[in-house]
Amino acid sequence: QGWHASVLTLFPEMFPGPLGFSLAGEALKRGDWSLDAHDIRDHGLGRHRSVDDTPAGGGPGMVLRADVLASAIDAVCAADARPRFLMSPRGRPLEQARVRALAEGPGAVIVCGRFEGVDERVIAGRGLEEVSIGDYVLSGGELAAMVMIDACVRLLPGVMGHDSSGAEESFEAGLLEYPHYTRPRAWEGREIPEILLSGNHGAVARWRREEAERLTRARRPDLWEKKST
Ligand code: SAM
Repeated sequence: QGWHASVLTLFPEMFPGPLGFSLAGEALKRGDWSLDAHDIRDHGLGRHRSVDDTPAGGGPGMVLRADVLASAIDAVCAADARPRFLMSPRGRPLEQARVRALAEGPGAVIVCGRFEGVDERVIAGRGLEEVSIGDYVLSGGELAAMVMIDACVRLLPGVMGHDSSGAEESFEAGLLEYPHYTRPRAWEGREIPEILLSGNHGAVARWRREEAERLTRARRPDLWEKKST
């Protein structure tokens, strides 16, 4: 029944949060995709439903227990074909190509870390792929999970207003996107580039391509390099 995301978190009430608005939210209401958020604490231990403990070897902070997290994962997706992820600053950086592949699959099971992180053994033991949304540290995996889900959901068939707008965007051709303009024609002394008003579709397409290449070379030499090799 559509693309299906399951999130494991200590804060299920954070979901759907921003995913309940605009294109993603409307698609959620239509049933184009579905989301369930599960409280890891339901599998916590003892009277206090404890989920974490001190790090082996000492040091600051707390670590999410492998046994608790594994039982939460097993309850959600024991026999499930969806890929399983752990949001983690150590993970492979999320990229549009990966997002597209994920959006074409059945969905995702996403574990949100908290504290210092999660016990290493559950990552291997439950086949979690670590994914990072960038080289900075968040206080928890929930925002990262929302980023990944949002990027996937907007690519699902029928979710975006114009079917073609996905194909031209930043990263889809290994380039950053060209600049956009709309009315008014002149604003605070700045004009819309003449060529965009010329009605010459070929010239407009060429200009956009050149601008996309210029911006990519200037701002993201790493992407440009990858493209030309
Ligand atoms: N001690 C960890 C480290 O230095 O790598 C950071 C743990 S962070 C405070 C808590 C949780 O936030 C992580 O387990 C992860 O789930 C999430 N998180 C933080 N930064 C992230 C990022 N850049 N991408 C994805 N998830 C992130």
